[in-house]
Amino acid sequence: MMDFLHSVDSAALKLVDRRSEPNDLKSPIQPPSDSQTGCTDHILIWQWNELSGWGHPEIRPYGPLPIMPSASVLQYATACFEGIKVYRGYDDKLRLFRISLNCERMVKSSMRVKLPEFAPADLEAIISRFAAIEAEKWLPPGLKGKTLYLRPTHIGTTASLGLQKPRHSLLYVVATLLPGFSTKRSGMRLLTSPANTIRAWPGGFGNAKLGANYGPTLVAHDEAIRSDFDQILWLSGPEGYVTEAGASNFFVIWISPGGELQIVTAGLHNGIILEGITRRSILELVRYKSLQEEAWIVANRQLKPLTAVERDISIQEIQAAVSEGRLLEAFASGTAYFITPVEQIHHRGQDIDIATPSEESGSYTSLIKNWLSNVVYGRDDPLGWTQTI
Ligand SMILES: *Cc1c(COP(=O)(O)O)cnc(C)c1O
Repeated sequence: MMDFLHSVDSAALKLVDRRSEPNDLKSPIQPPSDSQTGCTDHILIWQWNELSGWGHPEIRPYGPLPIMPSASVLQYATACFEGIKVYRGYDDKLRLFRISLNCERMVKSSMRVKLPEFAPADLEAIISRFAAIEAEKWLPPGLKGKTLYLRPTHIGTTASLGLQKPRHSLLYVVATLLPGFSTKRSGMRLLTSPANTIRAWPGGFGNAKLGANYGPTLVAHDEAIRSDFDQILWLSGPEGYVTEAGASNFFVIWISPGGELQIVTAGLHNGIILEGITRRSILELVRYKSLQEEAWIVANRQLKPLTAVERDISIQEIQAAVSEGRLLEAFASGTAYFITPVEQIHHRGQDIDIATPSEESGSYTSLIKNWLSNVVYGRDDPLGWTQTI
């Protein structure tokens, strides 16, 4: 009896039999807290099942979820998420930024793992209400220029080890006070992904915000952190195309080999890039402002308007541009850490150094960052991207 125990020889692995005791596995994995990493005191819950469809959303005290060990999400990673910020404007009003795009993307991500669809406008309405409630306490009036981060998550909860589409799902939203991005330097140091690792591939799911995209990046990410880099710059294919920096989109500002002043980011044609809403907004703003010369003045400098280009760009092209003095700036973009300059890329033993002009001296990165901050914090929203809540 219990023979298997004998093959486990250390006392630390002794099997304790608690079958006759009540199940006490009930402590939350992360207790509610007002620290920088904890969540606020509420959770929004919206449940679905195959028979009755979507139920009524509920707001409840933050706490652990009841979920079966055989649940679809735990076994087969039927999970996706979103990242949304609530902004406390310079005018003290609360705003959401292009949240309809987050809700549409969440439908698309859900469908990629056979989670049920929903009307994006319904999710938008629910999230807006939750955001207003949580912001009252956690992002109160007066905190101008500050944000609260919302994390909508959709998981398959059907308890069955058979591989099948979820017949029950749970969409929930938690909120957190995200710590700001910090680095000892003026910009990030990126390490190119190792030759034997790839983040996403054509036909895969890099273009969906699935949890399954992130866990497997942690081996490379941890290696990067231990060598004092901030993120992995994910390369793709034998050409070494640059795709994304960590979980952010990646941009360079350069003079192209043909002599054009451009802002370039990877295209969406092969489905390996996550279509960031910050990415899309940067491209749209650059195009919108391209004919307004006065929009390109920063720190009393008149910059030349950029042409926005979406195309594959390889690490070799970046190396060549740096050595020929054609690479002006690089940055990463995303909701969580907004726009963060890149000051160095390390590729196969070589440092590629990129200038990071200070805000005072005026740079494209700081100009674009200003444009977007002015939108989200309610100073100037020329394309009507925000809604007050
Ligand atoms: C979320 C995410 C981004 C950024 O998207 P935003 O909508 O701008 O926040 C970029 N790349 C990856 C892989 C992401 O998961």
